[in-house]
Amino acid sequence: MPYRFPPRWLAFSLALVCCAAARAGGRAADLARQIRENSFDPQECYRVRDLHLEKEDIRIYLTDGHLIFSKPVAGRRYAAIFTADVEGGDGEVILLPPNRAERSSLASYTGSPNLDEHFRSVLLFFTGDDYAALKAQMPSTPGNRLAPELGATMAEQWNSVLRNVGASYQTRLTLDLLGSPGFTSGLLVGVFNGIKDGNFDLLYDPQSPEQILGGQVSNRDARLYFDIWVSFVARSFRDAPARSAQRFALSNFRIDSTLAPDLTLNCITRVTVKPLVDGITVTPFEIASQMSVSAATVDGRPAEVFDAESLRSNLNRGGNHLFLVVPPEPLHAGRQYEFEFHHAGKVIEDAGDRVFYVAARGNWYPAYGVQYATFDLLFRVPRDLDLVSAGQLIEDRIDGDTRIIRRRTAVTIRMAGFNLGNYKHARIQHGGYSVDVCANRSLEQALQPATVVAPPPPLPIGRRRPADAPLTAAPPPPPDPLGRLASLANDVASAMDFMTARFGPPALPYLTVSPIPGTFGQGFPGLLYLSTLSYLRNPGRSANINAAQEIFFADLLQAHEVAHQWWGNRVAAATYRDNWLMEALANYSALLFLEKTKGERTMEMMLDSYREQLLATGESGRTVESAGPIVLGSRLENSVEPRAWHAITYGKGSWLIHMLRRQMGDERFFAMLAALAKRYDHQTVSTEQFRQLAAEFLPPKSDDPHLETFFDQWVYGTGIPGLKLSYSLTGKAPAAKVSGILTQTGVDDDFTALVPVDIQLARGSTITRWIRSSSDPVRFTVPVGQVPLKVTLDPHHNVLRR
Ligand SMILES: [Zn+2]
Repeated sequence: MPYRFPPRWLAFSLALVCCAAARAGGRAADLARQIRENSFDPQECYRVRDLHLEKEDIRIYLTDGHLIFSKPVAGRRYAAIFTADVEGGDGEVILLPPNRAERSSLASYTGSPNLDEHFRSVLLFFTGDDYAALKAQMPSTPGNRLAPELGATMAEQWNSVLRNVGASYQTRLTLDLLGSPGFTSGLLVGVFNGIKDGNFDLLYDPQSPEQILGGQVSNRDARLYFDIWVSFVARSFRDAPARSAQRFALSNFRIDSTLAPDLTLNCITRVTVKPLVDGITVTPFEIASQMSVSAATVDGRPAEVFDAESLRSNLNRGGNHLFLVVPPEPLHAGRQYEFEFHHAGKVIEDAGDRVFYVAARGNWYPAYGVQYATFDLLFRVPRDLDLVSAGQLIEDRIDGDTRIIRRRTAVTIRMAGFNLGNYKHARIQHGGYSVDVCANRSLEQALQPATVVAPPPPLPIGRRRPADAPLTAAPPPPPDPLGRLASLANDVASAMDFMTARFGPPALPYLTVSPIPGTFGQGFPGLLYLSTLSYLRNPGRSANINAAQEIFFADLLQAHEVAHQWWGNRVAAATYRDNWLMEALANYSALLFLEKTKGERTMEMMLDSYREQLLATGESGRTVESAGPIVLGSRLENSVEPRAWHAITYGKGSWLIHMLRRQMGDERFFAMLAALAKRYDHQTVSTEQFRQLAAEFLPPKSDDPHLETFFDQWVYGTGIPGLKLSYSLTGKAPAAKVSGILTQTGVDDDFTALVPVDIQLARGSTITRWIRSSSDPVRFTVPVGQVPLKVTLDPHHNVLRR
């Protein structure tokens, strides 16, 4: 889901060489070319002792070794390498995370809650005053001297590293070197070769909402991860009021797209840009990695575009990459500008037999942060194809071999998706809205008999809007992709009815459902992608998927994606740390629908299967759930426990909402969901804002009236308790009493959960007592008046426990 801020404009040190496709001509392209071609300066090579660099929470000590600076670009030496290649040489880096969560995250990767690492070498990039700061320290320590005799050798040894890593940071460095009001420079990147922890990166980016970040590229099961060890707000930002990172606002998108026979999508995107800062001289945008921007104008005048696609950056930008537009003159706050982009790329894949799908996981048009805007979308496609997208149909006609489709949204939406195929439709018109379910007339090759389903594309880290995670299930050789079309349309309409009644109107007054190969789904405003498996009758006919997975494809996935019309599209997550909320609410909304249509037992079965996934153990013997708190978001998708992100976001997330429901009772719980949809309509919501809102709906006299304990334990912390009840009966009617002892195991000493004890009396009445668990056994007594029939701990799946 979305970041409120433009995500990190940074790439990471992977051993990949970027394919620079910079265009000649402009100042940005010229700076970037100089960065890609730069070299170390043999005249700026030093034998150094006891130098240090301090950047907010990062401390780097160049204790004993050699240091060489790069040649200047735009008058600035922005890079250096230090090597501890002398007898007794040493470098050291120290980073102390400011809170428990980040210390614990760091420890899970490095074994220590603080980073104190000696290193052999560090490659530094800096756009602040770091060059001057290092030079200024040199006279104060004897032994610091120029070492030109080594300059040529060092330069030769490290120039290719400077160019390779520099190329992957070229767009971000160029942005800083260009300099613009609203975009603070002062970036520091350190690419370390550590003695104990191997290669890792630390960076400070004043333009990022969490300015300090540390992590490592790692490879597991032939897949690359960028493991984020730590990410937090830097020292000087922690006490300052939060600054908005939004430098300009986008509205009124008009996109004109033509699909070429080779599946290249050629687009002209026009959008209104409103600067929020005066005097902006360069505007950064993001677009899908498959797209390339070739030209731009501002109010009809040519602007420079710098778009150097970099493979590295895709690791961390949710399938997007950064590009820059340099307007012909500075932009002024209070004015509006018309930007026009020409961009093209292969965002569409062919799955065989005229089955197509949109493979780009990033934005197929230029975007910048979370922006609610209207869209006017024109598509030209081959005449036998159908194209679906957000917006009401304005035009649909055939012109020669081309089909021209135009749609327009009457209200603002968070983002516009599309899909295409040779579709058969099932349409249902309801009171306030319409549902249009499209199915492919033929089956993608991967699902045809005698082949195995291709694994879905890996989810990139830090994606802006994650598609819902795939279940790894090999589907049976399936029959007819149109088999369930009519009933699927009914199911989607029922889910829409169910949710509209509880959460208010959906993001748009219509919903188009379209198939996508693979085992996942995604919910855009007005448009869903649904796994082809959800279109099949009995997806679990083969023994390959279990009962919970069958429910997932047959019932849950469509309802989950429908629920994203509210959670994720009407209301958006504030940052990556709040994404869990959208997924948990969407999934729990789907479970509520399941409970209504299939019964409580089916919902409990799903909750049980989530619990199993959370309690599964990895190689270390630790549970999947212990990988980290749910607020780590996409950081949970890491090489240490690749299953954690899915199990925690969806499974634990659903349990969290379920536990809140049980503490509130159904009436208050549904009122809470309706209030959330209303209060944060067309806005972002953070985890803390959600906590405060939820606390308003607790029953009176709660022992955790602000839900602080609940959130500390379950949301900001980890742990699933084992809970046991023993009890005895004392006295006789009418003075009978139940005396119980609640014991807790398997969690830290400070863990406490609120758990119900049901005491079933004769005559059908039940007394429910909520008891708060603790590391010490908790004793309680309940006067019952008569001898009870049964005393049960948590009989209705109220608490996530072992
Ligand atoms: Zn989802």
